[in-house]
Amino acid sequence: MDSIFIEGLRIYAYHGVYEEEKKEGQLFLVSARLFGDLQEAGKTDDLTKSTHYGEVSELIEELFTKKSYDLIETVAEKCASGILKKFPLVREVELTVFKPEAPISVPFENVSVTVTRKWHTAYIAYGSNMGDKEKYIDEALVKLSNHDEIKEIKDSKRYVTKPYGGVVQDDFLNGMVRIKTLLTPQELLELLHELEKEANRERTIHWGPRTLDLDIIFYDDLVLETDELTIPHVDMHNRDFVLKPLNDLTHFYVHPVLKRSVMELLADLENK
Ligand code: ATP
Ligand code: CA
Ligand code: CA
Repeated sequence: MDSIFIEGLRIYAYHGVYEEEKKEGQLFLVSARLFGDLQEAGKTDDLTKSTHYGEVSELIEELFTKKSYDLIETVAEKCASGILKKFPLVREVELTVFKPEAPISVPFENVSVTVTRKWHTAYIAYGSNMGDKEKYIDEALVKLSNHDEIKEIKDSKRYVTKPYGGVVQDDFLNGMVRIKTLLTPQELLELLHELEKEANRERTIHWGPRTLDLDIIFYDDLVLETDELTIPHVDMHNRDFVLKPLNDLTHFYVHPVLKRSVMELLADLENK
């Protein structure tokens, strides 16, 4: 991928664990590599098709000096996410903070922290089968699109489906959204749980009626299995109410474990 490289911005600031560092301050150096497609800018000679490195440098300086932190990890995090939020053509950023005057008792050349951050693509399945289903879903989607670490939300068609799992209950309204997000999978799950709670969801019977259910289906091509979170969603390939709306958003996305595209998974299920 193309990139713009800003090397060695010199910024005086007050980050560090020690009192002294917060009081006296010291010199930091910051480098940032901004990944994105520069071809259109190169072919048209038009700055609006690229990212203004001067403006990025000013943002880094602003975020770097606005507040003082204990850790350069934190400063690096703030700068990386700040750049991604403000400059839409930057898809990924690699940012390094150097601290050449760090309080280390051994003679040293330099010390630095590098973080790489990017917009992730996630697919989130939604479903409701209680009360005003449309309203519960719509409200949750508005909250998702207003979140400052989520952008480019794209909704599928909605499907009325018979309940799954054997409990007698009202029909479901199901669908799917694709988002771009800076949240980690764990943070995204916590957000989805908050939205479910705000829709007055009560967790009583498993697979029972609910005002709102939000499940992470895919997160990039990540494969993850922890106590709280399995990605891709462990049963998605057996559910037409997941695969149909997913297929509205993407045909060719390949399931990272089953190695089948969404279109193939849907055909497999329909031919069962
Ligand atoms: P199912 O997961 O079979 O669709 P459900 O959605 O009815 O069932 P819930 O009661 O909503 O199940 O969730 C139970 C737990 O599942 C959540 O608290 C969460 O920790 C966990 N979980 C694991 N993987 C995921 C995922 N990919 N998305 C959402 N929750 C998940
Ligand atoms: Ca579910
Ligand atoms: Ca769920």
